[in-house]
Amino acid sequence: MKTVVVGGGVIGLATAWRAAREGVSVTVIDPAPGGKASHASAGMLPGHSGQLYEQEELLRLCLASRDLWPSFVAELEEFAPSGFRRDGVLDVAFDEDALRDLDQQLAFQESLGIHAERLSPEECAKLQPAFGPVLAGVLMPDDGAVDPRILQPALITAIEALGGTVIRRGATRVEDHTVVLDNGDKVPFDRVVLAAGCWTHQIEGLPEGAIPEIRPVKGQILRLHSETPLLNLTSRALSTGGASLYLVPRLDGELVVGSTYEETGYDETVTAEGTQSLLTRVAKFIPGVGSLRFAEISAGLRPASPDGLPVIGPTTVPDVYMASGHFRMGVQLTPITASIMASYLTDTTPHDSAPPFTPLRFS
Ligand code: FAD
Repeated sequence: MKTVVVGGGVIGLATAWRAAREGVSVTVIDPAPGGKASHASAGMLPGHSGQLYEQEELLRLCLASRDLWPSFVAELEEFAPSGFRRDGVLDVAFDEDALRDLDQQLAFQESLGIHAERLSPEECAKLQPAFGPVLAGVLMPDDGAVDPRILQPALITAIEALGGTVIRRGATRVEDHTVVLDNGDKVPFDRVVLAAGCWTHQIEGLPEGAIPEIRPVKGQILRLHSETPLLNLTSRALSTGGASLYLVPRLDGELVVGSTYEETGYDETVTAEGTQSLLTRVAKFIPGVGSLRFAEISAGLRPASPDGLPVIGPTTVPDVYMASGHFRMGVQLTPITASIMASYLTDTTPHDSAPPFTPLRFS
């Protein structure tokens, strides 16, 4: 079975790798693999976030993915370092409203069996001395983060080591079991997976409505740098009025600060306003942040489906599959998505949590 994956972000690359591991012959097509939303992403892997309270099926998918991360990484690291850290996530409340949210979140996490510990202001200060005064914190010792800029090259290495191919071209259309490239070349397939993030529905040649529209939601994100890491742990600084931030320290001294949320179509520009908003917010939480070196401001387009949920599985068109729409959680949901797709591509039973995410719900 020859499978072509259109789109080499975290979702397409991980799908290709897991399928190749099962003996499927894979080809990934992408003009610049690993370069779009996944490159911008902070790679936070929290056990739970507020947006999951009312979304039981998505919550189940997140928890399934969380369980898969350690084995996914262990197998990937046979090929290259993965950039994965499971050394804790610390949520901290900076005002009374945020404190109420924190306690609600703690109760919910406990009900799900997620290991979480409430910390006093003093305990938070000990763990994360760079923070300004906080009201309380919750530590999730079993959660963490991954650096997508290490993860994606590792996935490419693993795909190629297993005999897969990466073609650095754009795909324009799908017709007669071939993918047509932007130079006119045709790549034949038995099955194709469309995983081109918010560009997935722009691939031509398929019947109208076969692929739901995937909306781009821009996020600007900042990268600062210091000789030694300013923060010890991945953190979410919770505050009212849309001022919350997440902060992901890397071992090399990089501090990722995210992010904005903008409905501005396919615009990927970084703006002074976006930069200012992130810098102002982070300075409120970390008084000493101003001395860090400014390394990068970038923007990525989160792929959002019409109902905000991932779209994973076979479409109405025979042999055409889709894996997109992961919105704010694509990195977090990478192992489970790849595992569901690999089961479809090898005709084995998909994971129990897969059915709600079928593309057929839009047809
Ligand atoms: P993308 O990474 O966008 O990849 C799509 C790929 O398709 C690209 O490589 C592109 O070149 C390719 N492509 C496009 N058109 C074509 C074509 N015609 N032919 C061939 N290839 C094509 N998620 C988390 O879980 N944790 C986080 O902390 C987090 N932080 C984020 C921060 C920001 C600022 C942003 C923007 C997103 C964040 N996300 C996070 C969300 C996450 O990044 C996305 O859900 C995820 O990266 C989507 O992956 P993808 O592979 O579907 O899309």
